[in-house]
Amino acid sequence: MAYKTDIEIAREANKKPIMEIGAKLGIGPEDLVPYGHDKAKVSQSFISSLADKPKGKLVLVTAINPTPAGEGKTTTTVGLGDGLNRIGKKTAVCIREASLGPNFGMKGGAAGGGYAQIVPMEDMNLHFTGDFHAITAAHNLLSAMIDNHIYWGNSLEIDERRVTWKRVLDMNDRALRDVVTSLGGVANGFPRQTGFDITVASEVMAILCLATDLKDLEKRLGDMIVAYRRDRTAIYARDIKADGAMTVLLKDAMQPNLVQTLENNPAFVHGGPFANIAHGCNSVIATTTALKLADFVVTEAGFGADLGAEKFMNIKCRKAGLAPDCVVLVATVRAMKMNGGVAKAELGQENVDAVKSGCANLGRHIGNLKSFGVPVVVAINHFVTDTEAEIQAVKDYVKTQGSEAILSRHWELGSEGSEPLARRVAEIAESGVSQFAPLYKDELSLFSKMETIAKRIYHADEVIADKKIRDQLKAWEEAGYGHLPVCMAKTQYSFTTDPTQRGAPTGHTVPVREVRLSAGAGFVVAVCGEIMTMPGLPSKPAAENICLNDDGQIEGLF
Ligand code: ADP
Ligand code: MG
Repeated sequence: MAYKTDIEIAREANKKPIMEIGAKLGIGPEDLVPYGHDKAKVSQSFISSLADKPKGKLVLVTAINPTPAGEGKTTTTVGLGDGLNRIGKKTAVCIREASLGPNFGMKGGAAGGGYAQIVPMEDMNLHFTGDFHAITAAHNLLSAMIDNHIYWGNSLEIDERRVTWKRVLDMNDRALRDVVTSLGGVANGFPRQTGFDITVASEVMAILCLATDLKDLEKRLGDMIVAYRRDRTAIYARDIKADGAMTVLLKDAMQPNLVQTLENNPAFVHGGPFANIAHGCNSVIATTTALKLADFVVTEAGFGADLGAEKFMNIKCRKAGLAPDCVVLVATVRAMKMNGGVAKAELGQENVDAVKSGCANLGRHIGNLKSFGVPVVVAINHFVTDTEAEIQAVKDYVKTQGSEAILSRHWELGSEGSEPLARRVAEIAESGVSQFAPLYKDELSLFSKMETIAKRIYHADEVIADKKIRDQLKAWEEAGYGHLPVCMAKTQYSFTTDPTQRGAPTGHTVPVREVRLSAGAGFVVAVCGEIMTMPGLPSKPAAENICLNDDGQIEGLF
């Protein structure tokens, strides 16, 4: 049987006008700022008016460590949202916006897949409502103002060798990773080495996703460290006097975007911080707004649960006062098989033994998530090639781990396929069994926080770091940053810092190679391994196959 591509399914969607979608959540037309007929922003004044409303139930969707076989977190998030609506629970989905970089690099969109998608998927994957462009502009305004300050006499005494604030672009472009600016003579300023990151790696993105309102946004922007003096004292964005103008540029981007699923249920698509040097989930403002308008909110965290869910709990929930009522851990038979040693080309053939031997990674994640006090359900995201025996093997294994696995066929069937999962998730969330608590207290030292995550989540024996790094952490603690949570930047493919170590390794060492202070976002980043903040394009970029057809439709996007 031939299956339609994601874009073919999305094109056939029977979309409702966005005002009707807003009405489902009780948002009146006066509080929706339309961007065309099928997208709208929710007004700041309406969001403020919700302050005292009670919150609905929060469901987090996360996954095992990613494999090239694909897991389908977004697809499952959307499918579960539709499933909950189908059984009569007023539900909104909250996911991240797409970055242009990966769209034109490796194939794969951010709107879900099959019959569990967000529409308009082309818009969502491309310029959408311009939020990322606004973030790019705000970030680069600050960059321009820093160089301008130096040009006009440098009264702040910025050490030009210690400007940490780079420039950003929403594109995969390795040529810009390391650059020299201000070449060409006296009129162009003082040449210095710097570089570009991709927009989603900007601290401005992380701030937009953690800020509670425009005042908080402005304060956090001002708090960002952009450079150091020769005596190593910090220069803040506030010293450059950029925070006000940046807030102006971000005013509209702070308002969450409302769109719909293929089944006309509401979806908030807002923000998109990297999941390595940042926390990797959608905005606090979108999640809290959704929680006040719906009985259930289903949201997704990036990468595997060791990175995405850990940061969702220890950074986002801690900061925003949120607590998940149920966690859905996405696994696939294919990924179990890959973990069990099967090559990608052979995934189509039944191999129950490989499934069984690949389950250790899943088991580790179940245990880890439970240590946050939250109930966990495994969603087996069904692929049409999965066999009964393979599915049963996953279910049996999950039972031995004190949890339960439910097969979900949303990709193929939409909400009809996710109904069993939705029923169980609703039951658990409504039972109130969740006793969520973050893994560590604010008062713990920064290095001990890193050790807690490494030992409890990665099951490592130790964290190692040079004296220089430990001294830096001490200095930040003395400067008043010791209460911040830590944001681990490591490979998403393994519990260790070695991407080839699949399964559930123990006894390893986590080397912290570098630490960075994101003082505006409010976390300390621990860089463990190679972290790329400006990706490159592959030898055959997806962009080569993207074009407009004679009807003006986009071809080749997904
Ligand atoms: P993630 O959010 O984990 O990165 P996505 O949900 O975006 O993953 O899915 C990645 C890709 O895999 C999408 O193109 C989607 O269409 C495809 N996919 C997801 N689930 C299934 C499934 N059950 N069967 C076939 N393809 C799927
Ligand atoms: Mg996703």
